[in-house]
Amino acid sequence: MKNTGMHRPLRRHIFLLLAVFVLVILSVLWFFQIFMLKPMYASIKTHELRTVSETLARDASGDALSSLSDSLAQSKNICISVYEIRGQSAHLCASSHIQSSCILHNLASDSMMNRLYTNALTDGFYTERIAGNFLTGRNADNADNIPESIITSEMTVTSDGKAFLILLNAEIEPIGTTTDTLTLQLGIITGVLLLFAGITAVIVSGAISRPIVQMSKEAKKLAEGTYDVCFDGGSVKEIAELGDALNYAAGELSTIDTMQKELLANISHDLRTPLTMISGYSQVMRDIPGEMTAENMQIIIDETARLTDLVGDILDLSKLSAESQKLDCEILSVTDTVQKTLERYQKLTVRDGYEITFSFDREIFIYADKSKILQVLYNLVNNAINYTGEDKKVNIRQLSKNGQCRIEITDTGEGIPAEQLSKIWDRYYKVKNYHKRAVSGSGLGLSIVKNILLLHGAKFGVTSTVGFGSTFWFSLPEVERDPSAE
Ligand code: ADP
Repeated sequence: MKNTGMHRPLRRHIFLLLAVFVLVILSVLWFFQIFMLKPMYASIKTHELRTVSETLARDASGDALSSLSDSLAQSKNICISVYEIRGQSAHLCASSHIQSSCILHNLASDSMMNRLYTNALTDGFYTERIAGNFLTGRNADNADNIPESIITSEMTVTSDGKAFLILLNAEIEPIGTTTDTLTLQLGIITGVLLLFAGITAVIVSGAISRPIVQMSKEAKKLAEGTYDVCFDGGSVKEIAELGDALNYAAGELSTIDTMQKELLANISHDLRTPLTMISGYSQVMRDIPGEMTAENMQIIIDETARLTDLVGDILDLSKLSAESQKLDCEILSVTDTVQKTLERYQKLTVRDGYEITFSFDREIFIYADKSKILQVLYNLVNNAINYTGEDKKVNIRQLSKNGQCRIEITDTGEGIPAEQLSKIWDRYYKVKNYHKRAVSGSGLGLSIVKNILLLHGAKFGVTSTVGFGSTFWFSLPEVERDPSAE
């Protein structure tokens, strides 16, 4: 299932993302630096002129008007003219001329003065922006070099009844040149950043895609059945974690594969032993007179039972894992079920000296599939018998707590090392060197138990102390006895 057609390589992906990121940031910069520079500067300058004009208005009739005008003109880099208006005539009472191309001092026409005066009368504070090349009387070359200006006019009447017209002129600095510089700078910055985005894309994609490509190669090998693979996740945390997870999965697959091979070898061996016995004994019984004894027959029967158990285990597990097993639940006495299971071992108890005890204080009912619960009990008790200690003791307890019935099967055997505890439930798993007696375990019993208990939604587990024995347990909710069954 290949799916590469619609996907673009990681490198191009990262580059495109970074390029978009760079372009968005630069567009914002360009917008403010190039397009908004002049309007923003003009607005700041106008605000400054209004403050200067207000300061002059407050002291217009004072003696210090001229010096105030000069110092404000110097500090703010503007030109100032203040006229006292007497009737129809205007008398210049302060004039500070700082900028050579000031329109007020050099070029203002009568009509402009009139306009400034009348607008000041109506508006209170009047502002006008004048392009450097608007004026007549200047040749075109010079006019181009004159920056745009802001002219303001304000009328004020002082407390002693005198009227003053305050005119201010500020050049909007040669922003054209500034803008050109900024444009060039931004052009260079754009180029550098795009180059940087390209290099970053190569480095980042290298760090991400190299291990992914390596891992996908290893994964193909794994899929072909080579378990000797190594997923190197590189230096990116998430990919390194993916690599670790895949290494773990490969390890598990390899273990399962080994186990499966071992199981096949074991099963073949386990099948052959009883078959050899059966065929041997039958031939002896056929050929040698007097060998047709009950003991020999019993051996054949026992070996057949071993074979049946083994084949049954394998069949059960394959059915359970194929999830084709449906539960056929009913209300049943778990106490009775345990007792029934133990009856199967009565012969063993008598013949081989096993001491199997069952302690309970009352009969408890659960809702479960009887044949499956029997299977669970049979497997757990069987294991306990197989692995218990020299004293041959196995104890089964039925407990009741918080509405849960708990069955515990305890043996006095070698126990199971802590690191193996979680694995024994896996299919085919066998703890090495722990078989006390000639146990023909298939490694399937606990896996069957686990599957059945999971199907029932039961809780289960094992506690074990090496040298002292193990306790396997499971618990299911208690239910009321089915009245119709009485
Ligand atoms: P087997 O058929 O080999 O007993 P199981 O699935 O029943 O397979 O058990 C898996 C492994 O768990 C066993 O091989 C054994 O090593 C260990 N085991 C199970 N029950 C016990 C127990 N009561 N005491 C010690 N080890 C046990």
